[in-house]
Amino acid sequence: MAELPPKAKGFIDWYLAAVDAANLTDKRYPVKGMNVWTPYGFLARRNLDAVMIRAIEGTGSQPVEFPALIPNTEFQKEKEHIKGFDAQVYWVTRGGATPLDVELVLRPTSETAMYPVFALWVRSHRDLPLNVYQIVNIFRYETKTTRPFIRVREIHFLEEHSCQVDEAAAAERVRSNVAAFGVMAHDFALPFAAVRRPEWDKFPGAHYSVAFDIPVGEARTLQIGTAHHYRENFSGPYGIKYEASDGSTKLVHQTTFGLSERLIGAIVAVHGDDKGVVFPSAIAPYQVVVIPIAGGKSAAPPIDAARTIAERLTARGLRVHLDDGPDRPGAKYYHWEGAGVPLRLEVGPREAAKGEATCVNRLGERSTVGADQFEATVLARLAAYDDELRARATERFRAAFEIASSLDELKSSTHVRVVAWCGDEACGHRVEEAIDGALLGVPELPLPLRLPPPGRCIACASEKPVQWALAGRPL
Ligand SMILES: [Zn+2]
Repeated sequence: MAELPPKAKGFIDWYLAAVDAANLTDKRYPVKGMNVWTPYGFLARRNLDAVMIRAIEGTGSQPVEFPALIPNTEFQKEKEHIKGFDAQVYWVTRGGATPLDVELVLRPTSETAMYPVFALWVRSHRDLPLNVYQIVNIFRYETKTTRPFIRVREIHFLEEHSCQVDEAAAAERVRSNVAAFGVMAHDFALPFAAVRRPEWDKFPGAHYSVAFDIPVGEARTLQIGTAHHYRENFSGPYGIKYEASDGSTKLVHQTTFGLSERLIGAIVAVHGDDKGVVFPSAIAPYQVVVIPIAGGKSAAPPIDAARTIAERLTARGLRVHLDDGPDRPGAKYYHWEGAGVPLRLEVGPREAAKGEATCVNRLGERSTVGADQFEATVLARLAAYDDELRARATERFRAAFEIASSLDELKSSTHVRVVAWCGDEACGHRVEEAIDGALLGVPELPLPLRLPPPGRCIACASEKPVQWALAGRPL
């Protein structure tokens, strides 16, 4: 097997090679940007979904599923939104040989599929809040270079849509989405920045957008999720109204929350190393691989003892793979390290006799697991591994940011930049020009960074009050 190109030498080359080596996806399908989920990748995706579902249902959201095709007549109702998606839509224009009376859009997101139905579901204040989500595939005709998980044309997508009684309740729903993302990110071991996108970069049709960004590669940033406040921008055109307790009729305020398979790309990007993918235990297709090892020429590998260990750990709810195949142990280590398995348990004849195993975690830490409390010890090692993964990721996250105090300093940025910004659009654009990227926005949550009070605006240096904002080059 070929070695991976070093991560530090070039992020994208490393990323593509690491994803390939772990066999998470097959990009040979003959439509660009539409990749095949392999068995191993599919297992990772199922675990990702489980984490997302647990967190979002924990905030009172219920699952639904709407059709993938949207009539163009519904799609056209919210003007800003349509403008934002015009160039990215796949069209269905024929049924067999017959041109369709109403052309259909393959959903790029589901506002326009759901909201005509929400108008039927929401009648009274007793129907609110309506918090529903679906996990489906969406389709976007992406014109930039496609990358597995990070930029694809058929996207595995979680979208929550909510209807609330008023603007304040909708703002509260956005805050609750941000908090739910924090719960998920703990399982992903991903430190992140939650920022309010500047006015000129919000989602089409939104009142405001909160995005989750992480630093990746060479001072680039990756948006890994969003939550939006729509006010009445969609409920007006779609007629989503309710009778308030005082008898008056009001439009609902709406929110959305969107996450995708890009999270798998983020997990690979943030945790991976020169040996390949590194999975946190919540996402790992296999959390433990058990490898029986022969003891010299005479002693056969203790396959039965290894199988017993695998079965006992499986019974404790772990995802375990017994690798009793014909490859040499070294080749197996190499393979499962590249695939990102958190713990490897090596069982030789001597260990088998004592009921022990040698445990090597994906960060290279080696220990013995004794016969006493065997399963509990493995569970504890897994938890310690996740903690260590989180600690290392947080350290790198902190190191990825640097304050810039002049526009000049932005020009050759080797970091994601923290800048003092007065909030003016013109100043924001000057920052974007200087960094050749984007003003990502003002943090909604405190960043895990030690920042002094901001001084003057980096662009205009006026007396206006300023806030720290993030600036970077989105991947
Ligand atoms: Zn300014």
